[in-house]
Amino acid sequence: MPNVVDDIVAEVAALCRENRDGAVADYIPELASVPADEFALCIATTDGYVYESGSARTEFTIQSISKPFTYGLALADNGPAAVAAKVDVEPSGEPFNEISLDPVTERPRNPMINAGAITSAALIHGADVAERFERIRRCYSRYAGRELTMNDAVYLSEAKTGHRNRAIGHMLRSFGIVTGNPDDAVDLYFRQCSIDVTCRDLALMAATMANNGINPVTHERALATEQIERVLSVMTTCGMYDAAGDWVARVGLPAKSGVGGGVLAVLPGQIGIAVYSPRLDAHGNSVRGVQACSELSKRLELHFMHVT
Ligand code: GLU
Repeated sequence: MPNVVDDIVAEVAALCRENRDGAVADYIPELASVPADEFALCIATTDGYVYESGSARTEFTIQSISKPFTYGLALADNGPAAVAAKVDVEPSGEPFNEISLDPVTERPRNPMINAGAITSAALIHGADVAERFERIRRCYSRYAGRELTMNDAVYLSEAKTGHRNRAIGHMLRSFGIVTGNPDDAVDLYFRQCSIDVTCRDLALMAATMANNGINPVTHERALATEQIERVLSVMTTCGMYDAAGDWVARVGLPAKSGVGGGVLAVLPGQIGIAVYSPRLDAHGNSVRGVQACSELSKRLELHFMHVT
């Protein structure tokens, strides 16, 4: 028998489907061909129940939603002090692909913008790009509770056109933030962005974060509790591009979005939410993703400042 959450998920999904605002990302050519009006909404609880609506099993590339997960792995590989020496945790208020470092600290401002994400990728341990990518892929798979794979077409499309990210990689190398080959760090970043996920996967990845790093279905640990706290803190202040402040005011949950049209949000201790809808707003956030999360936050009273 449907419960109250099923009803709310269905209502919010019906409302958001009406919204045709925004446009699909096309600066990575392969992303331009996704069906613009696809929609999915999932909520996964920390006891492993998943509410699904729409095309919850359709695959799309994770893109920037990869950033918190690789940042978490970089923290696990290097410890928080070594990571903090390379990448700060301050909101930038700048577009995600800004070619800049903080002028005072000469570090990327946070791991949710591309400069910080390429730095996190450069910090992942492994003998070569293939081994480091395999560690990242396995790490994301632990969060999702199933084997994730890379989308070759999207990877090749970004690798062919990603000059701006290469420029960021070389800037990081010239400031000594990346010390190895910057092209390897950028290639690893392109690969992690091209991992295919479904909306259901993202909800479970978010629920794993909500569950202190333990996947609620497989019970496998993806990350230690202290690192999860740090990752969620950075998602709160920096996860929604340069609309992070508006998001916190409206939705009040740590979150991350990606130009593939995915959004995930976390209510620590309780649930993970994921939305897939490829049309993006001017900040690069999924239009219906933002709408669905703010409706859910209101109707289910999820805002972390809400007192019952
Ligand atoms: N791979 C994309 C880029 O670096 C990810 C961007 C995003 O999702 O914000 O341009």
